[in-house]
Amino acid sequence: MSRSSKLFARAREVIPGGVNSPVRAFQAVGGDPPFIQRGEGCTLIDEEGHRYLDLVASWGPLILGHADPLVLGAVTGAIARGSSFGAPTEAEVELAELLVSLVPSVEMVRLCSSGTEATMHAIRLARGATGRDLIIKMIGCYHGAHDAVLVAAGSGLATFGTPSSPGVPASVAANTLLAPYNDAEAVAELFKQHADRIAAIILEPIAGNMGVIAPAAGYLQALRELCDQNGAVLIFDEVMCGFRVGNGTAQELYGVRPDLTCFGKIVGGGFPLAAFGGRADLMRQLAPSGPIYQAGTLSGNPVAVAAGLATLKQLDAAAFARMEAVGAAVEEGLRMPVAYHGDLSFTRVGSMFTLFYRSEVPTNFEQVMECNIEEYARYFRAALANGVYLPPSQFESVFLSPRLTDAEVAQVIEGLSAAIVVAEM
Ligand code: PMP
Repeated sequence: MSRSSKLFARAREVIPGGVNSPVRAFQAVGGDPPFIQRGEGCTLIDEEGHRYLDLVASWGPLILGHADPLVLGAVTGAIARGSSFGAPTEAEVELAELLVSLVPSVEMVRLCSSGTEATMHAIRLARGATGRDLIIKMIGCYHGAHDAVLVAAGSGLATFGTPSSPGVPASVAANTLLAPYNDAEAVAELFKQHADRIAAIILEPIAGNMGVIAPAAGYLQALRELCDQNGAVLIFDEVMCGFRVGNGTAQELYGVRPDLTCFGKIVGGGFPLAAFGGRADLMRQLAPSGPIYQAGTLSGNPVAVAAGLATLKQLDAAAFARMEAVGAAVEEGLRMPVAYHGDLSFTRVGSMFTLFYRSEVPTNFEQVMECNIEEYARYFRAALANGVYLPPSQFESVFLSPRLTDAEVAQVIEGLSAAIVVAEM
């Protein structure tokens, strides 16, 4: 038995499923997850000493790879001065100013500790500010593990939400209306049915949690108009895509200005930090300047803030250009094996991509569900054996780093191309 398998057996005795977040358990792809001993640049090293090119990047945050020297320096400097104060610090003001300067729609911002918190608080703010209870969520989008958004439709036609986890009260789920991704008509219909009762639309402007699905031309603009016409708040959840695409955010890439935006992952540089921000007139309604409550003991934690600042400051035009070049090279490198296979499709936005086991690129969750997940599992295992660490599920995005060297990019293409062939057999 490998050391990882022994550790996993131990873990299962004391941690539900052996993991502290479900997708880590490899249930969708089979086998035991390798236990990670350390990371170096874009490489993960497991307890057996196997090396993998890391295309998961801690599910997105580690855009600069592991133990980046500047992030490491900033973090060790910060922690030496004290790990938490529960009182204001200059660095958190600097991070807030940086976010406001980088994202035009963000006029004020509040820091919190996870993407789940960011979306939960943004939704409360939208509800408090509008005095309405209903929200619209797109089927297949993920916004964290709190009750209001842990809702998916049993079918694409369902109007009212049904909880997708036991424990979510039906009365809470009933406030979450559902629409298929990329279907502005369905959203318009919901506004007709529930006139003056909808507080907000929340969505991933680039879907990443059903595999990567880009917004159709005009979709985000149509949602913006529907919110304007109906007095609802448009919330972009950029926890995953923020500072990973184009020049930074999806809203910049597609030219649509949301009222509120949620950030996470990259803004914390690998530490528990997230944020939500947007229109100042909305943000001022948060306590203590307004009545809508939001709080957190470790919010704006100085070590996490140092990591976030050191990460964001390195994401300049050259870094985004490199990310695009790496993404384009991988896309080009996989073109032949994908075409040769015949039942595969590839979607990429910047440094996010998904190889779907479906002949046509899916545009919504219903189509994503048609993917051949058994073959994805074989592809995943073959890639792992070839030293490429992919997300252990078809319904996830791959994350590329600007720090991948040309030699590593070639290794990724070779490893994945071979895995496509092996998985088909
Ligand atoms: N929103 C999106 C778009 C996400 O991808 C995630 C996490 N994958 C979350 C919210 C939740 O973030 P966290 O896991 O930090 O709570």
